[in-house]
Amino acid sequence: MNGSKYDVVIVGGGPGGLSAAVHLSKKGLKVKVFEKKKILGTPVRCGEYFPVKAEMEKLVPRVKNLDVIDAPPESVDTTCHSIRLISPKGHEFEFPFGAYILDRHVFESHLGDIARSHGADIDIGVQAHYFPDDQGGWVGSTREKSVHGDVIIAADGYPSETAERAGLPERAYAGPYAVATNIEYLMTDLNVEQDVAEMYMDPRYSPGGYGWIIPKGHGRANVGIGIREPYVKRDWQIRNLLTGFIEKNTVASKRLVGGNKASMIGDSLPVDGPLSRTYSDRVMAVGDAAGMVMPTNGSAIQTALITGDLAAEAAVNYFEHQTPLSSYEASWKEQIGLEMENSKLMSYAADDGHEEDCRCDNVSDSRGHGNFHETTRLAPHGYVYYHCEKE
Ligand SMILES: Cc1cc2nc3c(=O)[nH]c(=O)nc-3n(C[C@H](O)[C@H](O)[C@H](O)COP(=O)(O)OP(=O)(O)OC[C@H]3O[C@@H](n4cnc5c(N)ncnc54)[C@H](O)[C@@H]3O)c2cc1C
Repeated sequence: MNGSKYDVVIVGGGPGGLSAAVHLSKKGLKVKVFEKKKILGTPVRCGEYFPVKAEMEKLVPRVKNLDVIDAPPESVDTTCHSIRLISPKGHEFEFPFGAYILDRHVFESHLGDIARSHGADIDIGVQAHYFPDDQGGWVGSTREKSVHGDVIIAADGYPSETAERAGLPERAYAGPYAVATNIEYLMTDLNVEQDVAEMYMDPRYSPGGYGWIIPKGHGRANVGIGIREPYVKRDWQIRNLLTGFIEKNTVASKRLVGGNKASMIGDSLPVDGPLSRTYSDRVMAVGDAAGMVMPTNGSAIQTALITGDLAAEAAVNYFEHQTPLSSYEASWKEQIGLEMENSKLMSYAADDGHEEDCRCDNVSDSRGHGNFHETTRLAPHGYVYYHCEKE
């Protein structure tokens, strides 16, 4: 043990951990963040799609501190004004929706700079482990090199070693439906529209998920697919599925013609809703570590920022008023619990409709524009919901 003591030690310097670090350091608490990447936000494992604050106000109207989900201009690569859904048969349906496409390296560096400017210690390039004791616990690359925290925040993404070591209930992974596997290229030299994000419903190349073309400005785009294993009928190699999407999807292949693949990333996401308990006496889990991912579309930067902020608020109340950390779970349930639950129910409903020979070619536009807005209102980020019909 190196003997250093902190009020709060955060494992993971992604959006969830850094949002907590900003809040805590501004309140004058002694904070340490461990991040295993050598540079905050790099490499990027994300489509970087980030709905603007005005949209989030409608999608999660009970969130009290919406400032936490805003992006500084220097972290915005481009701005989209609409989403276009493309059905398997190539039918297109576009609706207005404002979103920033972030440069997550800049975005996360910015959060790190704010936290540091208020006194937070951020150690990068350190893969940290949590060694619990009854006063919080020790965190560090080894037990000998650990620092002590009275409160620990598990912000280490999915799957979270910290949450597991804290004894938080393992997520009830009923099976592989609960995990989405995502893979994405950053493509360059493209001629795609720069203010529309496209989402492709194509069971051939994104079974159980969807494909995306998200413009990044200067002829670049994040081009990826998310899939879930039970839906994959053949050719399980996810890289081949992405190649199929880029080369054979009738609409996407035309959009991406002449493009070059600059880099590739992939990762898994929990898409079965939050852990059944997200806190213990001295530990809270935020963001992906807690399963705070919208099941309908796998978006989770915003929920990581929100839950990081709420965990920090709970920690402040713990130190100032001895309020138990259960207040964290009460807060996120009050502010985003309904939306998370609705999103999960919609995802289940879509799964139920996904039978062997169903033909998913009727995107929500077939239900009428008004109805579509109803869908989005009921389940934030529900814009990926689509309606299946049997052939
Ligand atoms: C391909 C893909 C595309 C996506 N696209 C979008 C999108 O367009 N929009 C959207 O909203 N969401 C998207 N997501 C989801 C989004 O990226 C995550 O949900 C979001 O980053 C969650 O933030 P987080 O802070 O909880 O976790 P993370 O961003 O995963 O941050 C966790 C951090 O902890 C660090 N870490 C892990 N273990 C340790 C350890 N032991 N010690 C120290 N550090 C550790 C990791 O290096 C990481 O930096 C996408 C995900 C994927 C995989």
